[in-house]
Amino acid sequence: MRKEQIQAQIEKLKAELLKLGPMRPGSLSQQYSACQKPGCKCVDPIHPQKHGPFYQLSYSHGGKSTSQFIRPQFVPEVRQQLAAYKKFKELTQRWVTLSLELCKMEMQEARAEASQPERSRRS
Ligand SMILES: [Zn+2]
Repeated sequence: MRKEQIQAQIEKLKAELLKLGPMRPGSLSQQYSACQKPGCKCVDPIHPQKHGPFYQLSYSHGGKSTSQFIRPQFVPEVRQQLAAYKKFKELTQRWVTLSLELCKMEMQEARAEASQPERSRRS
């Protein structure tokens, strides 16, 4: 790949990053529970039906792990925010990959330029 192509791809990634909406890290899981109260459906001896689903969001940020329950009506919104974060991670990873490549190319160019006078002197 040429330098200009890499630069163009980085610009595209930046444009996509700007389009990202609200984001949050983590994952959403469904939990069911049994309250164990006598006579409750969750402890029915024949057809026990646990309570739930409860949606639990777990994430770690800044070295801290947290989890919180999410009300069912907010689940679609939270799923979108989780997806936006995934996209964010993916785009920045690709940006770093391209940037590394670009830095390498620039260093190689600088090295080639620095060694040129020597080579012409020798010839
Ligand atoms: Zn119960």
